[in-house]
Amino acid sequence: MTAFAYRKSSLHAEGVPLSAIADAVGTPTYVYSAAALTERFREVTEAFAGHPHLICYSVKANSNLAILKLFTALGSGFDIVSGGELARVKQAGGDAGKTVFAGVGKTPDEMAQALSSGIRLFNVESAEELEALDAVGRRAGRRAPFALRVNPDVDARTHRYIATGLKTSKFGVPFEEAVALYAKAKKMKGVQALGLDCHIGSQLTRTAPMRAALTKVADLYVTLKAKGHALEYLDVGGGLGITYSDETPPSPQEYARTVLAAVKPTGATLLLEPGRSLVGNAGVLLTRVLYRKPTETRTFVVVDAGMNDLIRPALYEAHHALQPLVKRRGKDVQVDVVGPVCESTDVLAKGRSLVLPRQGELFAFMSAGAYGMSMASTYNSRPRPAEVLVDGEAWRVVRERERVEDLWRGERA
Ligand SMILES: *Cc1c(COP(=O)(O)O)cnc(C)c1O
Repeated sequence: MTAFAYRKSSLHAEGVPLSAIADAVGTPTYVYSAAALTERFREVTEAFAGHPHLICYSVKANSNLAILKLFTALGSGFDIVSGGELARVKQAGGDAGKTVFAGVGKTPDEMAQALSSGIRLFNVESAEELEALDAVGRRAGRRAPFALRVNPDVDARTHRYIATGLKTSKFGVPFEEAVALYAKAKKMKGVQALGLDCHIGSQLTRTAPMRAALTKVADLYVTLKAKGHALEYLDVGGGLGITYSDETPPSPQEYARTVLAAVKPTGATLLLEPGRSLVGNAGVLLTRVLYRKPTETRTFVVVDAGMNDLIRPALYEAHHALQPLVKRRGKDVQVDVVGPVCESTDVLAKGRSLVLPRQGELFAFMSAGAYGMSMASTYNSRPRPAEVLVDGEAWRVVRERERVEDLWRGERA
């Protein structure tokens, strides 16, 4: 991925020096590369080209309207987990008919909205949710198309906070209960079984757990077809990992080979739900150094981005590489890069070797395109960052920096 690279000593996004964006828009600011987003989407599409499939970009990874619009233009569908995400997809001109709806806690209102919007598939995560969907379908005089999300009880070998396919997880229905639930659904008037679904976790860097899970699920798909369920879709979820530091996740081609080999016996149309793997490396978070603070035990560098802007290090012990926007020669020192938020976990980069930053110096947290802005909050009453989309030599603000008045919108004193 070359969308973010140094030209001379200045870090660029495509043809634009990132320091020019920071100077114009301020910091903290997320910057995305249209070329990187497009290239990655095409790579995945081409990897699955020989097989009927639909890519449903997982909106929660990065839900900015400009990014949803870009993926819509490339032919993408969407994977959503709330009514709010459905509204975003529609606002961006996306097609509900290419959208699948997952999540353990869909409300009947959200289901009814999605059904009347013509959603492709509900990925149902419990027996009681199936009954609720049936009621919604009957009330609308329609059969809601659904797949059961099954839990294949496979260890995804990722951080425990982003593993979703173990028996102990809240996601999906237990594998062993699926056959009985499809049989039960057949007697319901408000639903129609159209597929089978699984998603075992995120930031997957090995193919073995994918293969194990998909082989089990493909087997179940074949069993269900043999029992007379007219399934069309096998939804293999998302989860393909990216490189943050030294991980070596499968390439899209290797991922496709693994998936296609496992699902071959089904003859199903594949639904893919990539999130992180499409947007993660296509974005960075720009920040400016406020203060250096040498102490007896370590040197802190205080920057103007905090855990409210990028929560992944605090939440998942995640690593984001840190690059100066203008390279400078000097001796490396060990520093902890911390944000302004009043929490001890507000450490964005721990124990990094850097040329001791100067006050005012600009840096980029790399690989921040996924689960960055979409997880940002206003904790400590910090307005959320601006977002910028670069396209070649051009760039534009695709979300204004929040203003302080936005912080109390809807409040009454
Ligand atoms: C979050 C999620 C995804 C996307 O996961 P990535 O790791 O970002 O690819 C896909 N499907 C479901 C059901 C999800 O919850």
